[in-house]
This record gives sequence, C-alpha cells and structure tokens, in this order.
Amino acid sequence: EPRPRSGVIRTRQFLMKDAYSFDINQDEQNKSYNKHDSAYRNIFDRCKIKYFVVGAHSGAMGGSGSEEFMVKSDAGEDTVAHCESCGYSANVEVAVSKVEAKKRAEKSEDIKEIHTPNVKSIDELCEFLSQRDAFAKIDESQCAKSRVYIHDGKPVLILMYGNDDVNESKLENYLGGTVRPGQPEELLEITGADAGSIGPVGFKHRIIVDNRIKDANNMFSGANKNDYHISGIDFKRDVEKLEYTDLRIVKTGEGCPNLSAGQAGCDSKLDVFTAIELGHIFKLGTKYSEAMGALYLDENGKEHPIVMGSYGIGVERVMACYIEQNYDDNGIIWDKTLAPFDIQLLGLNMKKELVAEASNKIYDELTGSGFEVLFDDRTNVQAGFKFKDADLLGMPVQVIVGDKKLKDNKAEVKIRRTGERFDVEISDLQNKIEEYLNG
Ligand SMILES: [Zn+2]
Repeated sequence: EPRPRSGVIRTRQFLMKDAYSFDINQDEQNKSYNKHDSAYRNIFDRCKIKYFVVGAHSGAMGGSGSEEFMVKSDAGEDTVAHCESCGYSANVEVAVSKVEAKKRAEKSEDIKEIHTPNVKSIDELCEFLSQRDAFAKIDESQCAKSRVYIHDGKPVLILMYGNDDVNESKLENYLGGTVRPGQPEELLEITGADAGSIGPVGFKHRIIVDNRIKDANNMFSGANKNDYHISGIDFKRDVEKLEYTDLRIVKTGEGCPNLSAGQAGCDSKLDVFTAIELGHIFKLGTKYSEAMGALYLDENGKEHPIVMGSYGIGVERVMACYIEQNYDDNGIIWDKTLAPFDIQLLGLNMKKELVAEASNKIYDELTGSGFEVLFDDRTNVQAGFKFKDADLLGMPVQVIVGDKKLKDNKAEVKIRRTGERFDVEISDLQNKIEEYLNG
C-alpha cells in the first residue's frame, strides 16, 4: 500500500497468496473453481472469520463467474448490500432491492405550470406546496427528481423517484461507456434552467427513467424554466420516447430481493455497509491463454486454448480482519489457528533464581512438546507491565510463573479470551494447555 492507514487493515506490506488452474475445458475448469471455492471457505472458517461471499461481476479480469470473500469493515473500499438472513450479497454498484413502486392513478390530471420561487430540492418542493395549500399536500412519491448526465458528448436526462439517488455504475452499464454529471453552465444551455428546475416536459434529448416510477402519472417535476415546476405530468401522455431501467442506489432497510429463499422469497431487510476483500476467485476462461498462445493438444492432436482460473487471498488482510473481529479493551484475542504463538510465558520476577530456573524449564518442556511459546523473560519490568503486554499481544494461553505459587509446585494459567485464571500443578501444565487449545 502506498499510503498505509486504518491500522492493520491496510498494512504497508501486501502479500498475496496466488493460485492459477489450467484445464482442458469448461467442465474441468468448473471443478477446479469449485474446489477452490470450498477450500477458501474452509480456510476462512478455520481462521474463525465472519465473512460473506459476493458473486460479483468479474469486471476487468474478463471471463465469466467470480466470487469475492468479504468482511464488514469501516476501512473497506467496497460498499455492499447484504442480507443476514439468506446471505444475498452484492456490490452496491449492481445491487437491487424490493421497494414499493409508484402506482399509476386511474385518472390523469391536467398538466399545470406552478411558480415555485427558490425551490431547488424535492423536499423544498413538497414543503412549498403544502404551505401554499394544505389540501394540495404532496410527498416525494409524486416527484420525479431530474439529473442531467453527459454520455458520449450528449446530454441524457435521468428521472428518479423522489429522493432516490442515481447509481452511476448502473447508468454506465446501461448506456455503455462512462458518464459524468452535467456542469451548471451546461445545464442552463441544455435545458434553459438551472439544477432544481429541470424536468422531462419539453426536454429535447434522451430521457431515462428509473423503474420505480415506470409509466407514472400526476407527477411533479421541473419546468425547464427557473423557479417553475410542472404538476400533472403523465409519462405516457406528456413525454415522448422514455426508456426505463433500474438506476437506484440500494439503501439499508430496503427489502431483500432474493426470490429463491423460502416459499415466497426472502422477507428480510438489506444492510448496506463498507467491506474489505479478503479473497477473490475468478473463472478466466480462455481470455489470457488465447492472447498468449497457451495451447494444449487433445488426443487427436488438435490444438485448444487452456481454460484458466485465478485465485487469491490477501494474507495480511486475513490477519487484520480477524483482529477487527476479535479484540477487547486490553488488546488482541488470538485464536490458536492464527496466533503467532500458542502460549505467552511470564516469568514474574526473573531476578529470583527459583523463578528463572522454573520458567526456563517450563519453556524448554513446552517448546520441546511442539508448542510455540513467547517467553517474557525481561528482568527490568514489573509484573503489572508483563500482564498488560501479554493481554495486548493476546496469545490464547498465558502461563504465569511467580515465586509464591512455585513453592506449591504450581503456576497460574490465564485464558486470554475469557479472562479465566486457575492454578495448575507444573507437572500437569502441558495436559491442561493441550486440553484447552485442542478442546
Ligand atoms: Zn435475504
């Protein structure tokens, strides 16, 4: 990372575990991909990380089919919509949700121009109209918000339901290529009005409308004339050649769109949050093998491009995400799987020969039995500091050796996660630790 930040989440060092698969056809490639998929799930399960899987578009990597393994984190660079109940997950760039659509009224009112001085936003418009006439009170569902974008050098008007925001990724997917918002001076030239007074009636270029207000009538929108709005707009009657598509940004609390969960589809709500990517698996197809001439000969001596897959895990990120999910006020709480050491051994007063001798012996025995032990044998540090440091570093088990308990041939064991402390006969130490770590 050129600019490390967010604690350990984005460390200076970035180590990638990479793997590639090379197969003779798509079926075999699917097998390789599925094996990696279950291996990755096993890895993250064993690391005790709470993750979810996003079936993302493979984007720039080409090919078809990919999955991202992600963890919720404020330091994340992706925004995702996730359903805790059924597991639906999608990058917000493509995520959809169940929201109530605007229903077409039976009768279309006449179109009317309204003087609306200084009214710029949907909320201001609703406020203005209800103050002017309490009986003519309207809400955002009757308003079409206008946004002008430039695509291929040409203006496009986007109409959204009330205060819904335009999802520019969806817009770019729909139009192909990139878009940019129109600049204030452009808006005046294109529409004859400034932002806040723009609308579909009389707009001379392409108009794309979000599905949520498909075929709506009796709508309010800008009049393409500063300080004026129009009421009674019927999209079928008053505007020619509208295009409809989904352009919304999904928000927290909206309905999960998963139709395959349960009888009538999932009825839970979506949560939208930032997340960090731990791993990614891709089906690359033959994009790279064709480009680079990576071919194989089949049993008839015929040449074919190799079918490829690509698989990666951000190694430090696994550790960082684990820490994000496993800590308390005193520091990290390592689980055995990821802990740098199984045990932290604390010799409390190493200047005392009895303690130094016993601690060294315990260290030798534990390491001799295959445990990884971090030995705090500092002689110039008070016991209190050693306790604090051991909690901060967070190895799963602490073995505390002090002269009082040594007189009874005992040491104290502390379990970092629970804070539980108990005395153990030194001869029984190994068994007790093994019991805990493997239990
Ligand atoms: Zn769901």
